[in-house]
Amino acid sequence: SDDIEVRELIKRYGTTTAVADLSFTVRPGRVTGFLGPNGAGKSTTMRIILGLDRATSGSATVGGRPFTDAIQPLRQVGALLDAAAVHGGRTAYLHLLALARSNDIGRRRVGEVLDTVGLTDVAGKRVKGFSLGMRQRLGIAAALLGDPPVLMLDEPVNGLDPEGIHWIRGFLRSLAAEGRTVFVSSHLMSEMQDTADHVIVVGQGRLVADTTMAGLIHAS
Ligand code: ADP
Ligand code: ADP
Repeated sequence: SDDIEVRELIKRYGTTTAVADLSFTVRPGRVTGFLGPNGAGKSTTMRIILGLDRATSGSATVGGRPFTDAIQPLRQVGALLDAAAVHGGRTAYLHLLALARSNDIGRRRVGEVLDTVGLTDVAGKRVKGFSLGMRQRLGIAAALLGDPPVLMLDEPVNGLDPEGIHWIRGFLRSLAAEGRTVFVSSHLMSEMQDTADHVIVVGQGRLVADTTMAGLIHAS
């Protein structure tokens, strides 16, 4: 199935322990929030799940397999990591077209995802002039290109205006309602409250809570 499984994950950078023995499972059909303060190890965990960084020990799998073997980026897993880092002189359309081409995805899909995230009107504008909110939308469009069953979004709400925040809530919920696995990090409980069904809370690289959103609100 389309579970994300993290087992006894440890990641050290020199003397810094970014992830200290983390285990959890993210299931399809709901929005799972990945909550914790800045520096808690959320991005590191996501990067390891995506095969962009190596664990010191432990494992991370998607659909039962490590990302590095046999998992197709974009088609099986779409990800948004560090939207602010999307730069370059290319237009939004060409940025997505290049990504689509290198993954054998047709150009028609580029138009579809631009429409989905509300960027059709600025598709011909250069990405370097984009606000952070527009970059978030563009990053989400990229993550959607391959119509993947699993989506991992790192702090997608950062930099969005109130209208964008309202949009992303409904959008993430609709992706989960379609049966997808939706894993979304945030350092703000308030951002997840009306969005996530389930939450994995981390602090200093350790699991603090793994519960329904209702359970978390009740406990606090
Ligand atoms: P979060 O996403 O929850 O803000 P991170 O995973 O970015 O947390 O960071 C966890 C810890 O690991 C922090 O102390 C951070 O400084 C450290 N860290 C993350 N990436 C690196 C790296 N490439 N080199 C050294 N330390 C890192
Ligand atoms: P480059 O510009 O060097 O081709 P990209 O970042 O465009 O680098 O893409 C490199 C590879 O990373 C892509 O072929 C794709 O497999 C993967 N990738 C890029 N963006 C995403 C994403 N949003 N979700 C999942 N995989 C991605």
